[in-house]
Amino acid sequence: MSRPPLYKRVLLKVSGEALMGNRDYGLDIAVLKNIAEDIRDVVALGVEVCMVIGGGNIFRGVAGASAGMDRTQADAMGMLATVMNALAMQNWLEKLGVPTRVQSAIPMASLCEPFIRRRAMRHMEKGRVVIFAAGTGNPFFTTDTAAALRANEMGCDALLKGTQVDGVYSADPRKNPNAERYTTITYLDVLSRDLAVMDAAAISLARENKLPIVVFNIHEPGAFTAVMKGEGKFTTVV
Ligand code: UDP
Repeated sequence: MSRPPLYKRVLLKVSGEALMGNRDYGLDIAVLKNIAEDIRDVVALGVEVCMVIGGGNIFRGVAGASAGMDRTQADAMGMLATVMNALAMQNWLEKLGVPTRVQSAIPMASLCEPFIRRRAMRHMEKGRVVIFAAGTGNPFFTTDTAAALRANEMGCDALLKGTQVDGVYSADPRKNPNAERYTTITYLDVLSRDLAVMDAAAISLARENKLPIVVFNIHEPGAFTAVMKGEGKFTTVV
């Protein structure tokens, strides 16, 4: 008999950049399809899944601000970018038959639901994937922080952070062949050594609520499913 999944309810954070694949901008449909397939397989294990998607493949507030825009205006554009990504992800999940709801922190009634925690809970209990769009709905925040916030609000057992590498390393493994991958690492080590896992606000929010962060390679086909089965390579921040 196969073992039960490591976690019962999880939030998957995927950055906008991850959705670009090898492109310089926008969305790579092949990447979206691969991630959607992996999510479908995790849902089939009986895991309740929600998601936060970034927007860096389209627009980042800091980039707008450094070009002279008002930061709050630029961040509003960044949040709108995450809604586009969320709708794209919903499209590919539903093509695979995975019922999905998008809830936006900035109400957009004709496109998606507004963020309502209790309604999102109900969707997840019914096996629907809920994609939280528009970050926290506030400027000066990131979608990493939104991910830690929503994971806590939704009572998730873990925050799964899909990145370009298969865990947290002592140095950048793409530059340093001697870099070591950690199996587990503490929140404090991540903060004090400034390891690029998630921003400090997100790590602190996870730490305060004892929410484990599991870092894995989103580009490895089937990696999300493998992590949920306790297989493959990943690092857990606890
Ligand atoms: N953003 C924001 N508030 C939030 C989340 C995001 O203002 O709560 C804006 C911000 O401008 C950010 C952009 O949305 O640059 C895209 O999000 P992020 O940079 O976190 O995306 P990722 O790096 O994950 O692709």
